[in-house]
Amino acid sequence: MNPEHEEIAVVGAGLAGCLLACFLARRGYRVALYERRPDPRTGRVERGRSINLALSERGLDALRRIGLAEQVLADALPMRGRMIHPVVGEPAFQSYSATGDRAINSISRGALNNALLTAATALPGVRVAFDHRLVGLDPATGEMTFETPQGKTTAAAPVVLGADGAGSAVRGQLLAYGVLQESLDFLDYGYKELTVPPVGGEFALDPAALHIWPRGTSMMIALPNPDRSFTCTLFWPTHGTASFASLTSPAAIERHFATHYPDLLPLAPNLVDDYQHNPVGVLGTVRCTPWQAGGRVGLLGDAAHAIVPFYGQGANCAFEDVVALDHCLDECADDWAAALPLFQARRQGDAEAIARMALANFVEMRDKVASPVFQARRRLDHALERALPGRYVSQYELVSFSTTPYARVRRRVRRQQAVLGAVAAGTAALLAGAVGVAWTRGRRR
Ligand code: FAD
Repeated sequence: MNPEHEEIAVVGAGLAGCLLACFLARRGYRVALYERRPDPRTGRVERGRSINLALSERGLDALRRIGLAEQVLADALPMRGRMIHPVVGEPAFQSYSATGDRAINSISRGALNNALLTAATALPGVRVAFDHRLVGLDPATGEMTFETPQGKTTAAAPVVLGADGAGSAVRGQLLAYGVLQESLDFLDYGYKELTVPPVGGEFALDPAALHIWPRGTSMMIALPNPDRSFTCTLFWPTHGTASFASLTSPAAIERHFATHYPDLLPLAPNLVDDYQHNPVGVLGTVRCTPWQAGGRVGLLGDAAHAIVPFYGQGANCAFEDVVALDHCLDECADDWAAALPLFQARRQGDAEAIARMALANFVEMRDKVASPVFQARRRLDHALERALPGRYVSQYELVSFSTTPYARVRRRVRRQQAVLGAVAAGTAALLAGAVGVAWTRGRRR
C-alpha cells in the first residue's frame, strides 16, 4: 500500500490507539482515529476507573521511539519496590531489582492518554472523530457504522485497526461475521478504587513504593499520584459472604477496614463514600484468534488480548504491540495482507505468556509476598543476580525492566528454576552424603 494515498482507520483513541496513530503517521499514513467518548482533554474523568498505572521498560521503549518518554516521565513517580503492610506490625520494603535502583513508574492514565492524543493530532495526516462509537463493521469491505450524538454515520477504510479495548466492538464484529473465535475468562474477583488524600500537603505513605496489603482472599494496592494522593485498588470477590457485596452499611465498611487494613483506615477519610459510590470493575483474560481478517482488519492491545492487571503490564504490552506491528510493516514493505498475519504470529505467544504470568502474580501478591519463604526466595534471586550478572535474571526484572519477549522470559525463567532445583537437589544429596559419612564414622568410634 502506498502510505500517502490511503487513510487507515484506528478504532479507539485510548493508549494503544493514540500511540498507533503516531507510529502510522511517522510512516506517512493518513489516520482517522474514531473514539466513542468526547475529547478527554475537555471532558469529565469517570469516577473510580483505574486513575493511575505502572509504566515500565516496554512502555517506555515505545514512547522513546516517538520522543515522548521524557515528557511522560516528568510527571511520573518512580516506585523502587513493594511496601508490604501486615495486619499487625510495621510495613516492610522489598526492592524490585537486585541493585535496588530500578523503578516502575506510577503515572496518571488520563495524563498519559492526553499526551499521546496531543502528540498524535500534532502530526500531519491524523484526525480524530470523537463521540463516534463503532457499532458495525463489514470485514470484507472495511465499511464501518458509528453511533454519534447526531445519529448513525458510516465510513470506509482500506485497513481498520481495532484498538478499542477489552470489550472491543471490532472484535465483536469479527465474531458476528464468524471470522474469529474468542474466549473470555472472568475472575470471580472485581476491583474498586479508594483514595488516600495528602496529609498536611504531604504524601500519607512512602511515595517511592507500590504499597500492598496482602490478605489471602483479598488484596489492596496503592500507587502514588503527582497531587500527593494515593489511589488504592481493592481486589476482592464480587459475591459471597466475604466480598464487595457483603459490606452493606457504613458501619460494616469501617469495621471491615479496621480489622483487615487497620493502618489504612485513618488515612482514608472518604473511605465509606468511595466504597459506596465507586463501581466494582471486572477482571478477566481475553483470548481470540485470528487477530486479523483478510489482511484488512486487525486487532491489538486489550482488544486482542486483555489480561488481569497483576503484573502491571496490560498497557506496556499494548505499547509493545505497536512497536511490533511497526516492525512487521517494515519487513513486509507496508503490505498489510502480509504484515497483519506476521504480527499475530510474532505476538500471540508473547500475549499468552504475559496473560499466564499476570494470573500467577495475583496469587503471589495476594498470598505469598508476606511469607518468610517468599522473602527468602526474593533475597536468593537478588543474590544470584548479583553473583551471576546477566546470566541469572529474575522474572520480575525480565518482565518489568527489559524488552525480552514475554514468551522467552517464561522459557528462560523455567530453565533457571530447573538449574536451581538441580543445584538444590545436588547440594541436599551432598549434604545428606556428608551427614551419612559423619554418622557412620561416629558409630564406628
Ligand atoms: P483502552 O485503554 O481500554 O482504550 C480503548 C479505547 O477505545 C478507549 O478510549 C475507549 O473509549 C475506546 N472504545 C471502546 N469501544 C469503542 C467503540 N465501540 N468505538 C470507538 N471507540 C471505542 N496496565 C499497565 O501496563 N500497568 C498497570 O499498572 C495497569 N494497571 C491496571 C489496573 C487496573 C485496575 C486495570 C483494569 C487495568 C490496568 N492496566 C495496567 C491495563 C491497562 O489499563 C490496559 O491494558 C490498557 O489500557 C490497554 O490499552 P488499550 O488502548 O488497548 O485499551
